[in-house]
Parts: sequence; structure tokens; C-alpha cells
Amino acid sequence: MIKVGVLGARGRMGSEVCRAVEGADDMELVAAVDEGDDREPLTGAEVVVDFTHPGVVMDNLRWCVQHGLHAVVGTSGFDASRLDAVRAWQAEYADVSGNVLIAPNFGIGAVLMMHFAEKAAPFFESVEIVELHHPKKVDAPSGTAYRTAEVVAEARAKAGVPASPDATTSELDGARGTDVGGVRVHAVRLSGLIAHQEVLLGGHGEVLTVRHDSMNRESFMPGVLLGVRKVADLPERLTVGIESLLGL
Ligand code: NAD
Repeated sequence: MIKVGVLGARGRMGSEVCRAVEGADDMELVAAVDEGDDREPLTGAEVVVDFTHPGVVMDNLRWCVQHGLHAVVGTSGFDASRLDAVRAWQAEYADVSGNVLIAPNFGIGAVLMMHFAEKAAPFFESVEIVELHHPKKVDAPSGTAYRTAEVVAEARAKAGVPASPDATTSELDGARGTDVGGVRVHAVRLSGLIAHQEVLLGGHGEVLTVRHDSMNRESFMPGVLLGVRKVADLPERLTVGIESLLGL
């Protein structure tokens, strides 16, 4: 049995994780912690899952590293400087530190969407990303859209594809979205939505759309449980994304 603790346990994702862990035959939920609660019960866990808030996740993660707990993190907002900070803590507390898995998206379909977009990227002159989420989401663009833009940009750069053509010379602020590594990313916040993303790839007389829709938060749970099962055995102290866990 893997002993699991959850941070953000009363949140939308965290409560779903608690249910999934309780429903898994090989796991035991030993601590469910939310804002204002004592973190101490988490020390009884082997793996801590964090679905909190970009503003608090770094403090949680440093605490997990210091306490020798493996961490599976779904909270968004991880850029290169945050990942460097995690690596630095793992070096500082190398004698106790566990492994950390940070995934912008635990949805297996969403990860495949990113993978397919990366594979297609070198074959099209234009690419843009539209992510669509529920209006309670606090960060934009989503971690998934940010990561997709990065991998698409890397694939294009590697293949020597020039910048997407764009004749815009005047625009209202934000009309062309934000720029992530040369890829335009647009964020929609709309009641009724959960989590959706389209990668639009344009070529000569054709458009390929790679789209993923997450219908409910349960869709993330197979990926989260996979992370909980594998985090202790990952070859790197810090792993970003579940791609390697899926053999992609
Ligand atoms: P939410 O607001 O419903 O839940 C966050 C919870 O964290 C709340 O219950 C809040 O009280 C709690 N919290 C705040 N500060 C805390 C602290 N210091 N310690 C412990 N708990 C604390 O948000 P949500 O919709 O569940 O999303 C949580 C995060 O997960 C967001 O960053 C979101 O973008 C991300 N997310 C990631 C994925 C993925 O697959 N990686 C999927 C969905 C959401």
C-alpha cells in the first residue's frame, strides 16, 4: 500500500484526488490537508499530491523536499525559474529529498494531444493555440497551453521552420493573444467549460486541428494515480510531465 497525503484536499481537484486514492486498491489516504491546516500529518505519507494554488505551491514543495516526501504536483505556474528552485532545494537537502513529479496536465488524452501537436509542428508554417477553461481558473494561459507552446516551438526550431506568417501591424491590446516562444496562445474563460484546448496548425490549403476536451475532473485521475505509483522509481529527482511514464 502506498501511503498518500493530499494538499489542497478540499479544492476541486484535491477532493477528486482524495476520492481516487480512497478508491485505489494499492493506496491509503493518510492525510488530507487544506489551507490553514497543520501539514504535520503529511509526514506519515510516502507520496504527497499537491493541487493548491500557484501562490502557495512553492512553499509546500520546499516543505515536502525538506521532509523527504515524494511529491506529485498538478498545481500550475511552473516556469524555468521555479523548476530551478526545486532542483536547488533537492541539491540542498540531497540526503533526505524524495523525487518530484510536476505535470502541467495529468490527462492522458491531453498529454497525447501535446505529443501529436509536437509531432505535427514541423510540417506546418503556422501554429496557434486556443485554450478554453471555466471562469474560476486564476492563471492564464493554462500550464498545459504554455507547455504545448514550448514543445511546439522547440520542434519548429529544431526543424528550421521560420516564424508563423503574420501581417498584423496594428491591434487592440491582447487581440493576438500572448507570445510563448513565438507561438501565439489565446485564453478563453467561459461559464460551462471545464478544460479544453485546440492546437491549430496551418499549411498550404489545409488546417490540422488537434483538440482535447476534458469533460470532468475525474479525467485527470488515471494520470495522477500513475504518478503516485511511479514517482518513487523515477530515474530523475525532478521529472516534468507524465510523458516518460507513458513511454512517449
Ligand atoms: P481550487 O481553488 O478548487 O483548490 C485549491 C485548494 O487549495 C483550495 O481548497 C484551497 O483552500 C487550497 N489551498 C490554498 N492554499 C493552501 C495551502 N497553503 N495548503 C494547502 N491547501 C491550500 O483549485 P483547483 O481547481 O482544484 O485547481 C488547483 C490547481 O491545480 C490549479 O493550479 C489548477 O490550475 C491546477 N490544475 C492542474 C491540473 C493538471 O492536470 N495538472 C488539472 C486541473 C487543475
